[in-house]
Amino acid sequence: MPELTDHERLRTAVHEATTAALREAEIHLPDDVKAALRAAYAAEDNPVARSELEAIFENIKTAEERNVPICQDTGVPVIYITIPPDVPFTDAITEGVQDGVRQATTEIPLRPNVVSPFTRENTGDNCGMGMPAVHITPGETFTLTVLPKGAGSENVSALKMFLPSETGKIAQFITEMVLHAGGKPCPPVILGIGIGSTADGATALAKEALLRPLGEMNILEQEIYDAVNALGIGPMGLGGKTTCLGVRIREGGCHTASLPVALNVQCWAARRATVEVNYP
Ligand code: SF4
Repeated sequence: MPELTDHERLRTAVHEATTAALREAEIHLPDDVKAALRAAYAAEDNPVARSELEAIFENIKTAEERNVPICQDTGVPVIYITIPPDVPFTDAITEGVQDGVRQATTEIPLRPNVVSPFTRENTGDNCGMGMPAVHITPGETFTLTVLPKGAGSENVSALKMFLPSETGKIAQFITEMVLHAGGKPCPPVILGIGIGSTADGATALAKEALLRPLGEMNILEQEIYDAVNALGIGPMGLGGKTTCLGVRIREGGCHTASLPVALNVQCWAARRATVEVNYP
């Protein structure tokens, strides 16, 4: 058998990492999200909310036992890759991601969700026109993270360009957006918030904020978390204390005349997984 070229070796390594990360993310919810759901259940006294959370626990257990996706909407593939200086930054990386997404679509399987925006023609393999969405940054290790994103929560995301003096209005804006969304994003949700950068940069920061595991929150994150949970929307929008499992903010430098604020909403099926790319 002929030896693989450098391009083929890199493409294969990224391919295998993509499929492995998608398999992990689609079937197993991260431990921090499971812990947040359990803590929410312990604090809930609304019987409908408790029964909705029980249905979610049953769903998570069934997915793991049967090795099947957590939700029928397996999302669109959003991929974050860090590459160290000794890895060549070539087309082999994006080609490998596409190979991995195609294999995952067939084998896990994933629902083919990617369509043309106007004709709605489905590519059938979750690839095509900018999909998978791949974000590459320099790093110390060669790692690949997947964040499959369902439409129910993505559809209630928002962007507002505030005046620079309006930082005090950010919490109210986010809370209003969550109230408007109601049960549509399959709560309890996690809120990724991008503050600063440019209009497009803030939306990217908001999604990247969702990569940070749940845990301790800063003052503004806590303020938003408390305000959103006071809305009473509850699990799946049927009422209760648990509307939000956590808030994650990511900041970026912005123009002195701008204050972009973006919200990326994540449903309870907060799928993400990171793997090391086995290369060279
Ligand atoms: S919003 Fe999330 S839980 Fe609801 S259908 Fe979409 S992927 Fe599934």
